[in-house]
Amino acid sequence: MNTPFPPSESHLDGPLFRNALQNLVDCAKIINCDPNVLERLKKPRRSIVVSIPVRMDDYSVKVFTGYRVQYNSTLGPFKGGIRYHQNVDLPEVVGLAALMTFKNSVLGLPLGGAKGGVACEPGKLSRTEKQNLTRRFTTEISHYIGPTQDIPAPDVGTDPQTMAWMMDTYSQEKGGYAQPAVVTGKPVEIGGSLGRNHATGLGVVYVAEKAFEKKGRTLKDAKIVIQGFGNVGSFAAQFAHERGAKIIAVSDVNGGIFNGDGFDVPKLMDYMKETKSVKGYPGSTPISNEALLELECDALFPCALENQIDEHNAEKIKAKIIVEGANGPVTNVATKILHDRGVFIAPDVIANGGGVIVSYFEWVQDIMSFFWDEDEINGRLKTIITKAFENVYKFQQEKNIDMRLAAMSCSVQRLEKAMLLRGLYPR
Ligand code: NAD
Repeated sequence: MNTPFPPSESHLDGPLFRNALQNLVDCAKIINCDPNVLERLKKPRRSIVVSIPVRMDDYSVKVFTGYRVQYNSTLGPFKGGIRYHQNVDLPEVVGLAALMTFKNSVLGLPLGGAKGGVACEPGKLSRTEKQNLTRRFTTEISHYIGPTQDIPAPDVGTDPQTMAWMMDTYSQEKGGYAQPAVVTGKPVEIGGSLGRNHATGLGVVYVAEKAFEKKGRTLKDAKIVIQGFGNVGSFAAQFAHERGAKIIAVSDVNGGIFNGDGFDVPKLMDYMKETKSVKGYPGSTPISNEALLELECDALFPCALENQIDEHNAEKIKAKIIVEGANGPVTNVATKILHDRGVFIAPDVIANGGGVIVSYFEWVQDIMSFFWDEDEINGRLKTIITKAFENVYKFQQEKNIDMRLAAMSCSVQRLEKAMLLRGLYPR
């Protein structure tokens, strides 16, 4: 996909989207995808750009730029997070919206894909400024979102409080009647779901269990390395530890720590809460993030950032299994190198799908106004994520391709069937 986009399509010209298009084109060949479906899937359905005037604390008005890209809604309402970050731009949001489309499809959810964001530095905004920004952004996109249209959720730089403000603003626009199903990732007190906070980390571990099972093993005594000890990484560590795995190294933005005997994860989590970093944890040896990735271990969970394993370090990775907790931590080139070396990669679209699966549960519970207990939520999460894994694994075995391409193929196959049945691909 190195062909340049014409100026009218500059909003498509981002690295993330190019990568997604490459995967789409590659998998279309494998599944012999209908060419009209493929053409339709190469472009987002709707890209919304809004200006957001915000009264700042010093009484000046600053105008931010916000985006909502609704990529595809063949399978159900659009669904995807809202990101507040200084690097947010339209091509990035288009790429993320495409990824959400393919993720929701491969997971078998009745949801389309979308993403949104505002170019801002959330850490530099006061609480009032962030609330003002969120409320005005919600108003600007309110005609396009709704419980049956498009359901936002938190992402980088946004949180349950942001979703509470979005829900409140949208509800005010609907005459003041509470509309909890318009967003997910809300606080439990206003219609959020139990289990949402740890859902992605738990999903990572359910997928890891399946990957180990395919190698004839369990997590018991498995040596695991985790990059990133935030929401995803710390819960993945906790659930793997509970299953008898040895978490021998973890890291955060400040660096990593190593202990060959495995950490007492609950104690490490307490230490992290207190000091805001894993660095300096008693009984550990410091290790750089680069060296951590190359440690001898049974499984590596990259749960921090994208592009951590690329053509420069893929040959040095010693893990036998990689479970992608983060979005895009292993590049396409590295995936090929690792696959050829026999490393099993559970791709992000499945491995970190726990968050959107429980978001889906939250939406269902809000619509029913009937809430489930945590065991029910965890159980249903396991059913959905392991089924998606098994489908992709079967396809991968049949075609002898890597799991990433297999996941994309299964995803596009489902979309293709639905688009042809609905007869809407020319639209
Ligand atoms: P988070 O902000 O809670 O945690 C990120 C962690 O990565 C922190 O420990 C941070 O210190 C660490 N980190 C940052 N830069 C690093 C670096 N250079 N080297 C090593 N560690 C570094 O974020 P999160 O919610 O845990 O998300 C992590 C990844 O998972 C992201 O790619 C995100 O898109 C993806 N993801 C998250 C969810 C979710 O539900 N939270 C769902 C799907 C995907």
